[in-house]
Amino acid sequence: MPGIIVTLILIYILWRLIVGSSPKVSDEVHEELVQDPVCGLYFPKSEALLVKRGGQEVHFCSDKCKNLFLIEEKKKDKIF
Ligand SMILES: [Zn+2]
Repeated sequence: MPGIIVTLILIYILWRLIVGSSPKVSDEVHEELVQDPVCGLYFPKSEALLVKRGGQEVHFCSDKCKNLFLIEEKKKDKIF
């Protein structure tokens, strides 16, 4: 019954076309998440407040956390 094989091949080709045409990966942008060292919150890098410290970028969720970090840093500077 070669007809069945041909039908199966056609179904397979059709299935591949359908699967191939519908993208499985969503358009959602998987943005890099960063962690606020002060409150421990994870949030998108684009929303982060950036402070550069010793060649490293430190990310903060808000001015509040940023200021807390800078205050803590000043305290450390006084100790050492
Ligand atoms: Zn925070």
